[in-house]
Amino acid sequence: MNVSLCKHSHPCQPPLGSITRPGPCVDCGTSWGAVQDELARQQQALILGTVRTGECPDCAQVKKLFRFQAEEQPWHEFGVQLPITFLCIDCWNTAAASENAFTAALFESV
Ligand SMILES: [Zn+2]
Ligand SMILES: [Zn+2]
Repeated sequence: MNVSLCKHSHPCQPPLGSITRPGPCVDCGTSWGAVQDELARQQQALILGTVRTGECPDCAQVKKLFRFQAEEQPWHEFGVQLPITFLCIDCWNTAAASENAFTAALFESV
């Protein structure tokens, strides 16, 4: 696997890109989609590697908990750690859905 040490800087301003479709990294040319795919793979590995049993903070039931972290978006400052919580699969799905709804609403308002 090709490990890139590039921190990636994707233009969100026309004509190079937009907030919904940032252009390729200005340093190494990696496309936004390729970076997102790689991040999704890493996130999945991280989630599956950190499964624990405990009390879900949302529904207070003792269940298998999965790592949940809000998705990084192009307008987030690089290197800012988004809060991490451990949720049961039901609450995880709810959180992911509301996050997507939030993102979709935001994009629609642009
Ligand atoms: Zn790059
Ligand atoms: Zn829960």
